[in-house]
Amino acid sequence: MSTASLPRAEVVVDLGAVRHNVRLLSSRAAASGASTMAVVKADAYGHGAVAVARAALEAGATWLGVASLDEALALREAGFTSRMLCWLETPDVDYTAAVRHDVDVSVSSEAELARVAGAAAEVGGRARVHLKIDTGLSRNGCPAELWPSLVKAAAAEGGVEVVGMWSHLACADEPGHPAIDAQAARFADAYDVAREAGLSPLRHLANSAATLTRPDLHFELVRPGIAVYGLNPVPQPEDLRPAMTFRSCVVMTKRIKAGDSVSYGQTWTASRDTTLALVPVGYADGVPRTLSGRMSVWLDGARRPVAGRVCMDQLVVDCGDHEPEPGAEVVLFGTGDGGTPTATEWADTIGTIDYEIVTGMYRPRVRRRYL
Ligand code: PLP
Repeated sequence: MSTASLPRAEVVVDLGAVRHNVRLLSSRAAASGASTMAVVKADAYGHGAVAVARAALEAGATWLGVASLDEALALREAGFTSRMLCWLETPDVDYTAAVRHDVDVSVSSEAELARVAGAAAEVGGRARVHLKIDTGLSRNGCPAELWPSLVKAAAAEGGVEVVGMWSHLACADEPGHPAIDAQAARFADAYDVAREAGLSPLRHLANSAATLTRPDLHFELVRPGIAVYGLNPVPQPEDLRPAMTFRSCVVMTKRIKAGDSVSYGQTWTASRDTTLALVPVGYADGVPRTLSGRMSVWLDGARRPVAGRVCMDQLVVDCGDHEPEPGAEVVLFGTGDGGTPTATEWADTIGTIDYEIVTGMYRPRVRRRYL
């Protein structure tokens, strides 16, 4: 329960932006005859799985994709009836829940196939599976040399229905990278093997980057994630709208003199008399401490630098001769419109990807609000 309405640490998610992005992605997919699976794992990359899933389905997605069965079951519990795929389980997972709740599961090995088929027999139903081929990412997925026997076993297994076959690209965010075509070629060979075994699975390979740049790899289904949230994974501009804004407010201001230092380690010293604004967010709220000395915020219509180190719960903004009012809005990152910082800018500054920044906003201290 919150005892204040001003944002201490608040993520605002623009569901209109999510719908816009999904419309763009699903129209690209539809142009190749493909359906769209919105990837909403990790609480929709920190944006809130239930709200994003609803918006994505309204805007043209027909499938939801998550990592774990628990994530899928939470969506079923929230009332979602759409097709749903989960793809990464621990060896002890109870697949009977997947069969009971109509969740498609990924299978990378004959051992996994046997566990899924066993669960289907226990429930007295059939499990819907998507066979995963490792085409070059070397994470999960069946190695190419074991693929023919996995396919054969799956085709002969009465307890499962092979709905799909799929793989994941390593370098789709670098259009033209030779690994993309190499993976696509292995995927095509794997499909031929599946067809020879009498299967006709729907194929899916494309993440956001391939959805945007490789219509030839859309097949029957695409699986965009990051672009749903308006972050562009490819070098060329795309009409995507970032959905997440991270905001806080000014708690107090104070005047300091030239020569006074700020925050732990006194790494920053005022070169002139200046006004400091205290903002009650820190690394416990998702502001990376490694941004210390390298970030600015949007406050009262301008970018203003953060002075000194980012602390656990607070940071200090150097406002010069500007005197913000207590309660004034502080945008940590947002859409970039008008000059606000962006999650992508944070990521570039500290040497990570914007995926990690937004996904890292999934934390209990940060209030979430939807537009
Ligand atoms: N498919 C799988 C298996 C994934 O793990 C992910 C995300 O990591 C996606 C699709 C979506 O990828 P992206 O967010 O790059 O669109």
